[in-house]
Amino acid sequence: MKPTLAALLLGSTLAAPAMSEAAPSGMTARPAARGPAITTQQLNVADGSADWLSYGHGPGEQRYSPLTRINASNASRLGLSWYADLDTARGQEATPLEVGGVLYTTTAWSMVKAFDGKTGALLWSFDPGVHRERGVDACCDVVNRGVAILGDLVFVGTLDGRLIALHAGNGKPAWSVQTTDPTKHYTITMAPRVANGLVLIGNGGGEYGMRGYISAYDAASGKLAWRFYTVPGQPGHPDHAASDTALAKAAKSWSGDWWKFGGGGNVWDAVGFDPQLDLVYFGTSNAAPWNQKYLSPNGGDTLFTASIVAVNAKTGAYVWHYQTTPGESWDFDATQQLVQADLKIDGKITPVLMQANKNGFFYVLNRKTGALISAKNFAPVSWATSIDMKTGRPVENPDARYYKSGKPFVVMPSAYGAHNWQPMAYSPATGLAYIPEQEVPSPYVGKTDYAPSKVGWQTGINFAAMALPNVPAIKQAVLSVLKGALVAWDPVAGREVWRAQHAGPWNGGVLATAGDIVVQGTAAGQVEIYNASTGQKLWSAPAETGVIAAPMTYAIDGVQYIAVMAGWGGAFPLAAGELAYKSGRVDNVSRLLVFALDGTKQLPPHVVAEDAPLSPPANLGVGPGVVAAGMALYADHCGVCHGGGAVNGSGGAIPDLRHSATLADGGTFHSVVLGGALASGGMASFKGELDDAQVDAVRAYLISRANEDKRAEGAPSPVVPAREPARKG
Ligand code: CA
Repeated sequence: MKPTLAALLLGSTLAAPAMSEAAPSGMTARPAARGPAITTQQLNVADGSADWLSYGHGPGEQRYSPLTRINASNASRLGLSWYADLDTARGQEATPLEVGGVLYTTTAWSMVKAFDGKTGALLWSFDPGVHRERGVDACCDVVNRGVAILGDLVFVGTLDGRLIALHAGNGKPAWSVQTTDPTKHYTITMAPRVANGLVLIGNGGGEYGMRGYISAYDAASGKLAWRFYTVPGQPGHPDHAASDTALAKAAKSWSGDWWKFGGGGNVWDAVGFDPQLDLVYFGTSNAAPWNQKYLSPNGGDTLFTASIVAVNAKTGAYVWHYQTTPGESWDFDATQQLVQADLKIDGKITPVLMQANKNGFFYVLNRKTGALISAKNFAPVSWATSIDMKTGRPVENPDARYYKSGKPFVVMPSAYGAHNWQPMAYSPATGLAYIPEQEVPSPYVGKTDYAPSKVGWQTGINFAAMALPNVPAIKQAVLSVLKGALVAWDPVAGREVWRAQHAGPWNGGVLATAGDIVVQGTAAGQVEIYNASTGQKLWSAPAETGVIAAPMTYAIDGVQYIAVMAGWGGAFPLAAGELAYKSGRVDNVSRLLVFALDGTKQLPPHVVAEDAPLSPPANLGVGPGVVAAGMALYADHCGVCHGGGAVNGSGGAIPDLRHSATLADGGTFHSVVLGGALASGGMASFKGELDDAQVDAVRAYLISRANEDKRAEGAPSPVVPAREPARKG
């Protein structure tokens, strides 16, 4: 009997990150020609700037540039102008900023670099020296999304929770503050934002039982101005924060001893600022742990998780909120970029805030009041049928709450999201939003015996039960449903206008310009330009690696450039195993690529690396029960970094453990997993989390998997599409 798609998917996986590479190299600096001296006034009107002054181009985060030198009629003449090789081989998610002819960007491990925007010469670099074992606290790779600028200072958030101000002219630190408790599992991967002299920074940790908050620091001194916690703490223990009053009310939406679990609501990416309304907007993560049975056992909305919140920019005081996923239980972070526009709604120009949410719905809110204007799904969803416009709440599929039913449920979209952090763009010229959309379903199975652990993910989800079995027919079926596209969306009409289908999910963020073009990199390793109005593909060029970051554009001496960070990585490549190569096999080749009209630079030839033949030790002769136990432990503790099913799809960013030399010797394997022998390379110790017998079981499972795949070597892969031919230039 042919299994149903749902049945097949019930064997699929969410998987995420763990090992890494180079040690800190210290700071190198030589004087730049000039620092920028950017004013608050310039930042507040930067949405219309020819420079690129903040993460989303301006406080409204439209990622729409007024530059027109490169446009729909000449985009086919684009060529590489210069490129810079980066000194890490992890996911690259930053959007470079440009001011005064200098590009400021970040790479993995929170390192900052300044380049001459015309020549590509490296002006300075800064390495904050993040201890590599902190990588175990990063759910989705040790990435960084970029810097903020004010005056002549450049601000970066580091993976270990610091906010550092650097002198823009030479990269030397001006001040540094620890924004998180360094003994807890907080990380920062987001780009800071600036609002009227305050630097805004949040943190990640929604997969690690961390309680979310956003902080505002004085840009000149680094002094804390205000802090807003997004979920209530223990009753009777006020935080003396801007959120105290609002959270006293929000606490009614929780039950049980939620504060013991952290709660989530982490502000890990989206922040916006409206200078006219003097409001700061931010999106909050999933509830932590995901499984509400443990977090808030009698239900409740669990405010302000999975929410869009507006606060007073000067004080951090609560103004309004809209919760996109009440009682969040699926990892539906509401952290996707918050885009401001003034749209004609029912004949009236209305100040709106837009978000293409991870949960599959495109929300349009009145950004003054928080009132819901519309919410339509831009991708297939299985967990809800619609949003009730009277209540603003989703009409849920009753089967979606897997922890209530006790039955697995295939959730579309899954934790990877219908749209994740990869920023969308909005063009006021076309009136369209451009969304990096994807379709990645996954079954959800609740744990029946969850208790918080010391290291790694804290979700209350049974990843072992959701793991993709090593059965070609099942893998093929799951692979066939994974999709990714660039979707042009009319936010007023609430409908799709055009779609460019890609080979698979996890493509890059988007840039739109007044030249009637949109630019996006892909998982298949291309940088592409489309006609913003029609969706016609106008140009593409090889990046020699998967592109996940968003492109940006700037002009120097009358020449317009388009720049993008290239480098395959992030949640899907690390966690999804073989499925991560749905768009074709790519390596991580981390670079900054800069294009211009008639550019003639060539990338050095790159041939995608073949896997070395597997040469595992013989199976250990333990019973199937031990191997099965090892598989479950791997799925819980290792798979989120090293890849689902013990196969890594990160293009070399993270080791594929089937190939690990440590498998050959139990003592060596223990010295890494429990002894921390590779901590300086990014593999944290799991001492106190796993015992000796459990580590032996994981090793037995990995050896078993390697031997299975060794037997299959030479046969055509049923899963990974044919490898692309070597790319030249
Ligand atoms: Ca999350």
